[in-house]
Amino acid sequence: MRALVLCYHSTNVNGRDYACNDHLALRADLAAIEARGLRILPAADAVREPDAAEPRVALTCDDGCTLDALDFEHPAHGHQDSFLRILREHHAAGGQCVQMASFVIASAQARDELDRKDFLGLRIWHDDWWPAAIASGHLSIESHSYDHNHPSLERSVQRDNRRGDFHVIDNEADAQAEIAQASAAIAVRCGVRPRLFAYPWGQHNRYLAEHWLPAHGPALGLLGAFITGAPQPARFDRWRIPRLVCGEDWRSPAEFEALLDRYLRSGDGHV
Ligand SMILES: [Zn+2]
Repeated sequence: MRALVLCYHSTNVNGRDYACNDHLALRADLAAIEARGLRILPAADAVREPDAAEPRVALTCDDGCTLDALDFEHPAHGHQDSFLRILREHHAAGGQCVQMASFVIASAQARDELDRKDFLGLRIWHDDWWPAAIASGHLSIESHSYDHNHPSLERSVQRDNRRGDFHVIDNEADAQAEIAQASAAIAVRCGVRPRLFAYPWGQHNRYLAEHWLPAHGPALGLLGAFITGAPQPARFDRWRIPRLVCGEDWRSPAEFEALLDRYLRSGDGHV
């Protein structure tokens, strides 16, 4: 049975209820997972052992802003517990010791520019927290590309500066710039190489998933790559592993519990 992989965004704070706040959703979802007796395993283990007799859940989060690991006083919505605090408190209260994979943007320069342009210069996209997050045991630092090929950047590492779409990373030079360079930069900052890659916006293509990553991923230390979308009862493809996204694939405790129950009934891990 495939593991069910879930994705959260710690920047998703648009109010104080479940539907518009991934921090509140994560806390509630952990309780729902525990209530069903489901094991939560690190995402890397879900890649290493794609099939197991028992059902399993893996947790991930994208974009790597500081709210993954540091509490935040939101200018409009007040105090936000970090994902790391939520995981730590979950364990302290008798829940499983959970490790979540945090997919970060590797380039400090890109994060700095995005913070200024898209996050009011709130300084929520630095990387000072990465080593301590790893040391906590509750987060791993993984790759979400070098600069997300983000449309807000003046200049992306994409060779023609075509931004806002990761499908265009379909050649050796761009794959080196966005994926190999990201692994190297994260390794310098953390002392360990990322083992996982998450395509920005879940956007993948045949060049990366069928050619470049199978050829170069293992030498970079990568075990697998994540897309978005519902898991299907298809052959396991380590370079295109589906994830369900909080706020898109479920928006309430009832929807999340229904999703878990569909997964548990499926017998093979599709939902
Ligand atoms: Zn992203």
